[in-house]
Amino acid sequence: MKQNELRDKATCNLCKNKIGAGQLPMFFTLSMKQYVIDMQALQRHSGLEMMLNPAIAAVMGPDEDLAKEAGKTDLVICYDCYVHKNPPLAVLFDTVVDDEVEEVEG
Ligand SMILES: [Zn+2]
Repeated sequence: MKQNELRDKATCNLCKNKIGAGQLPMFFTLSMKQYVIDMQALQRHSGLEMMLNPAIAAVMGPDEDLAKEAGKTDLVICYDCYVHKNPPLAVLFDTVVDDEVEEVEG
C-alpha cells in the first residue's frame, strides 16, 4: 500500500484513533455492499422458468439483475477494535454511512 492509500486509511472508523496507536501497527479493511432483491424481476424470472425450464429460461430470458446494489461502505478497523470490539454488522455498515452524511452536512 502506497503513501496516499495509507493516508486515506489512517483513522479507525470505529474508535477514531490513528491506526498505529494501538497495541500492534496492524489494521484491517472491510468492504460491504448492501443489495435489495428486485421482487418484480424475481417474479418475472420465476415465471419464465415455470413456462419453459430453468436451463432454457437462463438462455432465452432477459438476464436482468435480480438484486440491485443499495449502498456500499469501506471500513478501516484498527487492531485494538478488531480484537476487543464486536459490533453487529449493521452497526459497522451505519458507522461509515453516518460519517459520510456528516461530511456532506458539515
Ligand atoms: Zn479502532
